[in-house]
Amino acid sequence: MKVIVAKSSGFCPGVRNAINMAEKTLAKEKNVHSLGEIIHNKDVVQKLADAGLKITEKVEKIKAGTVIIRSHGATAEQIKKMEKKGLQIIDATCVLVKRVQKIAKLLHSEGYQVAIIGDKGHPEVQAVLGSAPDIMVIGSKADVAKLSKHKKLGIICQTTQSPEHFAQMLAEIAQTEFVELKVINTLCKEAIKRQSCAVQLCKKVDIMFILGGLHSANTMKLAELCKKYNKKTFHLQNWKELDKTILFGNNVAGITAGASTPQWIIDDFVENLRRFKTK
Ligand code: SF4
Repeated sequence: MKVIVAKSSGFCPGVRNAINMAEKTLAKEKNVHSLGEIIHNKDVVQKLADAGLKITEKVEKIKAGTVIIRSHGATAEQIKKMEKKGLQIIDATCVLVKRVQKIAKLLHSEGYQVAIIGDKGHPEVQAVLGSAPDIMVIGSKADVAKLSKHKKLGIICQTTQSPEHFAQMLAEIAQTEFVELKVINTLCKEAIKRQSCAVQLCKKVDIMFILGGLHSANTMKLAELCKKYNKKTFHLQNWKELDKTILFGNNVAGITAGASTPQWIIDDFVENLRRFKTK
């Protein structure tokens, strides 16, 4: 089968940095925890767990040792609790995620009601919510109507949302009665690059595969965008998960991968697909 891989796919600098920091820490320390899964990819998580990394969802459960803060960041409350317990903190928060937190704080100090366009349940958004009081989350049009009646609205965005969604929500907000709107574009260029390359590719191929964690926000966004232009788009984690029967009748396959998908998963998938006979 002919296989084309998207020009930009797989690990982004923020994720690569978090994994490097975890590996270096595991090489010299014994009792190492990560607050939540370090990235949304079960193969990488398993590899790090085999090297000794303990995944803990709550600071309360960590008695001693070192805690790695993943690229999505941690809430101010979690950091305070870790410091109080005397835990050693290795901060692997992506610089772009840190930027969103700093901007939220700044907008609040300038008197804006802060709103973040993103998914409320995502750890990155949760961490931003802890950086200033009363930040509102806009996940959909319905949330725009719930915005408090404040004069000045400061708007930021979860790094991995699509520019398309960001623009749609801004258009909705523009119809409200806020006297002043201040918009700071906090989208991640790496995520946008992966999205535009994926969309370009999916339009040219018979079948499109999005590789990455099923709970990875940026991978889900890639799948959502590609499904709009190619109905035969499939989001899966690795070659083993593929139902090979869907390949018959297709000649050209496109592949992309989320920012938390390691290169060896992509290479393995590509190799197997190239060898697969669809006729
Ligand atoms: S996708 Fe962007 S914001 Fe998220 S970790 Fe990677 S580089 Fe940082």
